[in-house]
Amino acid sequence: MHQLLIFGPPGVGKGTQAQLISEKLNLFHLSTGEVLRASAEKGTELGLKAKELMDRGELVPDDIMIGIVGETLLNGSKTTSNGFILDGFPRTVDQAKALNDIFRELNYANFKVIYLDANEDELLRRLLKRGRSDDNEQSIRKRFKLYKELTSPVLEFYDNISDIIKIDGLGEINEISKNILLKLEV
Ligand code: AMP
Repeated sequence: MHQLLIFGPPGVGKGTQAQLISEKLNLFHLSTGEVLRASAEKGTELGLKAKELMDRGELVPDDIMIGIVGETLLNGSKTTSNGFILDGFPRTVDQAKALNDIFRELNYANFKVIYLDANEDELLRRLLKRGRSDDNEQSIRKRFKLYKELTSPVLEFYDNISDIIKIDGLGEINEISKNILLKLEV
């Protein structure tokens, strides 16, 4: 059973790669950004609050995000027997600690972290081209800043407790997913 987290800076292609890997390995793909965008689309209270934060490039509070991921994983109905890939979570060390507790409860002891990376110029170029409502320059700068301050420490947190598979996020989409699958030894 695959227990995967895909990690990396904004615009590196986490969503695209998580989608490809989940199709290839028949995994449940949980994208916290997609969950929030779907709630915003529906116009729920959470969705509207989240959209405001997302469009400014801010993070949605930890307790809300931990609640969403905890409920989904502990409920289990969407996780296939082949496993899951988490995309966009954890984004803070507190989220990572909470995820550890969730994994412990579920007896998930051998998760792997796929770390995709690329330089900031390339990321900025990609995000400006993508054109999501949070892809304006001000929001992108804010996301880079929060990534450095709050999200990159998550990698150090995982350094001692799990396998980190580092992958170059520059290049052709299918080449990158091939590299990931190769390193996962599937
Ligand atoms: P993404 O689709 O992963 O790029 O996420 C889009 C936006 O959703 C982020 O910029 C945050 O505002 C919010 N978001 C997604 N996942 C999280 C998370 N784990 N913690 C806090 N905010 C999140």
